[in-house]
Amino acid sequence: NMRAGIVGLPNVGKSTLFNALTSSKAAQSANYPFCTIEPNEGVVSVPDGRLERISRYIVPKKLIHAALRLVDIAGIVKGASEGEGLGNKFLSHIREVDAILQVVRCFEDPDVVHVAGAVDPISDIDVIEIELMLADMQTLENALPKAERTAKSGDKEAKLRADAIRKCLDHLGTDQPLRKLTLDEQEAAAISSFGLMTAKPILYVANVDESDLAGKGPLAMKVRERAAMVGAGMVPVCAKLEAEIAELDEADRAEMLAGAGLEEAALPALAHEAYRVLGLQSYFTAGEKEVRAWTIPVGATAPQAAGVIHTDFEKGFIRVEVYTLDDLETYKSEKEIRAAGKLRVEGKNYIMQDGDICHFLFN
Ligand code: GDP
Repeated sequence: NMRAGIVGLPNVGKSTLFNALTSSKAAQSANYPFCTIEPNEGVVSVPDGRLERISRYIVPKKLIHAALRLVDIAGIVKGASEGEGLGNKFLSHIREVDAILQVVRCFEDPDVVHVAGAVDPISDIDVIEIELMLADMQTLENALPKAERTAKSGDKEAKLRADAIRKCLDHLGTDQPLRKLTLDEQEAAAISSFGLMTAKPILYVANVDESDLAGKGPLAMKVRERAAMVGAGMVPVCAKLEAEIAELDEADRAEMLAGAGLEEAALPALAHEAYRVLGLQSYFTAGEKEVRAWTIPVGATAPQAAGVIHTDFEKGFIRVEVYTLDDLETYKSEKEIRAAGKLRVEGKNYIMQDGDICHFLFN
């Protein structure tokens, strides 16, 4: 499963959001910086209506939606890259995630202290971006001398690594996150073990007031503009409201949503946006036991997709039978799809398409 790390300055609503998302009481929310020192981990499902549509024709015992693992990474503060406020510990957790969800405070509340004294989402975004850029620079500067030494002895791989490190450092030197730097496959591989944080996809979660659930107010709009500028995603969420909604049973939830003028909770939208920012898509397996969504990166081949179910499936991959939800809705059963000649047989070079319904054949 992909892991996304929730980051943000203290008191922006990270724990509240994490609790709402995972509906767990594990991450205690408190009006106090550094309350969540150990990273908490939870799993959220990424709801996908296509599973229900498949299960109208292939009736399973259960539906299994895709899932995203969330890690609540407690308060980064200014100076984290120099070890301020447990800085290094937080940073090491961020290095390990696949994507960053940054909670940005857009709500006003005189009872909730803001670490910088005033609600200013752009300054909050900058504080964290700068800490992450400084930390990436440190990582690269620490790794460079060894790469250069090894390169001198004629090691081609080390030469490639040293060149890639210098390219990244030059880029960071222009005050740009690594997200904006294009690396070729070899260069990317050479530095992949460093867990460079500003190269990770990022999604801004604008924690808005209850009075601005659509995220069209001046503070949320600033976050939108920044997101568009840096190629990040943006989702408005009122963490406090979502946390209240998450506590309710189904019937009360619908009533509360209607009362707030919302069609659905913001959390599914957040999960979907995180998925998109991560460059992920789903394929499905469908049988009597279960109809299930599996997560793969856009561009994955058929054997790689099989490997998500089981590593042996990737090694022993022979071929895959594929059809689409459209096929299923037209022909009503796999048998009829096959009879109509619509069941495609694909080999190991097949690039998976979002929504493929698959049977893998393997050794
Ligand atoms: P963290 O330090 O980023 O994890 O922040 P918390 O989730 O602990 O939230 C800090 C305080 O802000 C708590 O008292 C929350 O109840 C409050 N809070 C969180 N989200 C919202 C929100 O959307 N609106 C308001 N008014 N308060 C919020």
